[in-house]
Amino acid sequence: MIHITRIQAWAFRSPTPKPVATSFGVMHDRPGVLVRVEAADGAFGWGEIFANWPAAGAEHRLRLLQMDIAPLVFDARFGHPSDVFHHLDKQTRIRAVQCGEIGPFAQVIAGLDMAVWDLAARRAGHPLRQFIRADAPNRVAAYASGIPAADASQVIPRARAAGHRRFKVKVGFDLAQDTAAVRSIFERAQPEEKIACDANQAWTLDQAQAFLKAVEGQPLLWLEEPLPMFEDECKWRALAEASLIPLAGGENIHGQAAFAETIQAGHLAVIQPDVAKWGGITGCLAVAQQARSAGLRYCPHFLGAGLGLIASAELLAAVGGDGLLEVDVNENPLRTLFFDQGEPIEAGQWICHSDSGLGVQQLPEPLFAFQTSACDISQ
Ligand SMILES: [Mg+2]
Repeated sequence: MIHITRIQAWAFRSPTPKPVATSFGVMHDRPGVLVRVEAADGAFGWGEIFANWPAAGAEHRLRLLQMDIAPLVFDARFGHPSDVFHHLDKQTRIRAVQCGEIGPFAQVIAGLDMAVWDLAARRAGHPLRQFIRADAPNRVAAYASGIPAADASQVIPRARAAGHRRFKVKVGFDLAQDTAAVRSIFERAQPEEKIACDANQAWTLDQAQAFLKAVEGQPLLWLEEPLPMFEDECKWRALAEASLIPLAGGENIHGQAAFAETIQAGHLAVIQPDVAKWGGITGCLAVAQQARSAGLRYCPHFLGAGLGLIASAELLAAVGGDGLLEVDVNENPLRTLFFDQGEPIEAGQWICHSDSGLGVQQLPEPLFAFQTSACDISQ
């Protein structure tokens, strides 16, 4: 039984020496919201709440947790970690709709769910992946992410030196420059290396088709979010049918039903739920298992702090299959401070930790230099 009696959370913002540009906006700092839950018996767990967007989102998520959601956790007793997600999803649905904030509520619930799974796995004395599936492997395939096409010639060699063998490049800016960059990346790639592209929903159907035509013959691992996720299904179908390159998406799909519809529709070959954005471990585990049953590839989306990255690795290992872990290569101490020896990448593989839960006892002390807000709530 899990009886949560204390919830602490911290919002952080790390300055970025080089802002992270996506096709829909520029991140001028790197925010993060981290949460710690503690049970009546002293057991504890860590989670992360998505906060990349909007720019002012991190502090808002923290206040949402503090004022709207935490009281609903204290009032309940949970038999299984997944009960937290289902309880909060049900208890907050009307309020979230009422204020038009389904996403922020889902993100806070995802972070709490992650923390409660960490607590349960830690209590059981197993790494999270082996708490979920006893024979989960100790490493998962990974790729370097967040690489602007324009900077690829500098960033990819650094990522390669750090152990990466697969690289995902951000496109969706200028078509001629994007495609020239992709061709150049392939020309410089080592024989065993793989390249994926992410357009972050930038294109119309015509623009996406133009990109695919321009990179014809380049064996992209996948093309991520070429169209807006809200785009008409017939356009997604037209693109998928005409494309030899697998299409990917999921970071902007929200809810079990929407994922089930997407999996059923079959336009996406790569399904990418974000453990800190919707569903936590509970929701993303179910989606990943559905995706695998449908013969699709589960590749967790993640671009945040260290806790969510570790949780994504653990979940991918638990799910199995041929999925790849997304590892941001942009400078961000909110991520890298969690890894004393550097991120555990070897020959394109993420080496999982061997401690219980997520393997994190406490937040790295230097992180608090970036704190903007905090709360500490007890029952
Ligand atoms: Mg993406």
